[in-house]
Amino acid sequence: MIAKRFSGCQTEIARVQCADVTIATAGFTRDAAAGLSCSGVPLDTIIARVGTPAYVYSAALIRQAWRRLDRAFAPVPHALHYALKANSTLALLRLLRAEGACADANSAGEIEVALRAGFTPDQIVFTGVGKSDSELRRAVSLGVHAINAESPGEIDRIEAIARDAGTRARVAVRVNPDIDAGTHHHISTGRRHDKFGVPIELAPALYRDMARKPALVLVGVHVHVGSQITDLAPLRRAAESVVGLARALRAEGIALEHVDLGGGLGIPYDDSPVATIEQYAHALVPIVRSSGVTLLLEPGRVVVGAAGVLVAAVVDIKASGDRTFVVLDAGMTELLRPALYGAYHRIEAVRPRAGARRRYEVVGPLCESSDVVGRDRELPPLEVGDLVAILDAGAYGSAMSFTYNRRPLAAEVLVEDDGWRVIRRRSTVDDLLALEVDGE
Ligand SMILES: *Cc1c(COP(=O)(O)O)cnc(C)c1O
Repeated sequence: MIAKRFSGCQTEIARVQCADVTIATAGFTRDAAAGLSCSGVPLDTIIARVGTPAYVYSAALIRQAWRRLDRAFAPVPHALHYALKANSTLALLRLLRAEGACADANSAGEIEVALRAGFTPDQIVFTGVGKSDSELRRAVSLGVHAINAESPGEIDRIEAIARDAGTRARVAVRVNPDIDAGTHHHISTGRRHDKFGVPIELAPALYRDMARKPALVLVGVHVHVGSQITDLAPLRRAAESVVGLARALRAEGIALEHVDLGGGLGIPYDDSPVATIEQYAHALVPIVRSSGVTLLLEPGRVVVGAAGVLVAAVVDIKASGDRTFVVLDAGMTELLRPALYGAYHRIEAVRPRAGARRRYEVVGPLCESSDVVGRDRELPPLEVGDLVAILDAGAYGSAMSFTYNRRPLAAEVLVEDDGWRVIRRRSTVDDLLALEVDGE
């Protein structure tokens, strides 16, 4: 049997071996010789060329998450609109578009970036709690797939804009189902006292009213109850409420094309249990299948979150009382989540040194006490110049970065199976000053 395999089809063996290697090294791996690697490329090799801080993304992990989602929802007609706000670096958008992604934009800026990445207007849904008239005019004139409208007032403005333009706008109503997603209160969006959407009990009357307006095409109903949701119950309840609404509307003669269940599925940042993509699909598919309409989803975090790390260098180490501070050259400006939500990200030494692990306060360089990357972390001994990787930073990392303290934006690198490339260079002081007029 073995002999036959070796003598039989060499190309096949080569391919199988190659596939095995790909599987073994997709994403982030650790070994004693190379330290932490991304798809077989040691992170310190990349950093030697691009410097720190830098985001490093695994194309293989992004594709893997995307394909898992697409496969899991295969039992129902569906379209996956990647939520650009999680990370809209162009190279990642192009990668996802090539995988068959559609786009969810949260601003006119994200619509333009989606267009530049090659998405067509009919592949874009436009969400956002405060869409300005100019943003709505742009979306209406492009003819985006759906504008997810947040209020009766916004619907009036969309209608007026479409009428003036002599066109019809495709609209879905974002409903607020008053469901607590059980996530951090800063990323809960579906409770009555959150600012998002139209209270669901007001939606039927609103749809009836809209149905009388020729400038509006009622295409769907939209819900998004929060982000980093790890328990499926709130997502299931939200799905049931909007599918119920779509069914009630159809009984009245208002037939929608789709239900859009938003994004929100979480990823494991630590050891706590998190619903998997397959469990998520298993919970939602039966609810949607019975409705007979197309399912739209707007996944963000689950697609790119685990596919990116932020690599930083240790710039200082000092003791204070019973603590040892490790100061990195990346902090809240590069990765805001810990300071903004108290979010937890695992931190690892890229090349762990031998020796007893110690407890460190891992902090950023900014003049803010909230600029902490990880409190009380047990890590191998660190020295100035060592590299550390902050894991699961692919979503809401680079996308939320800013330039406080006149800090440059970090470089971004994409690792493909056949090599790696810079997909965003580090910004310079000239870039930071490019918009300023100083009168000289
Ligand atoms: C943020 C957001 C998403 C994406 O959420 P994830 O938790 O990243 O999946 C999707 N839809 C809407 C309306 C959002 O605001």
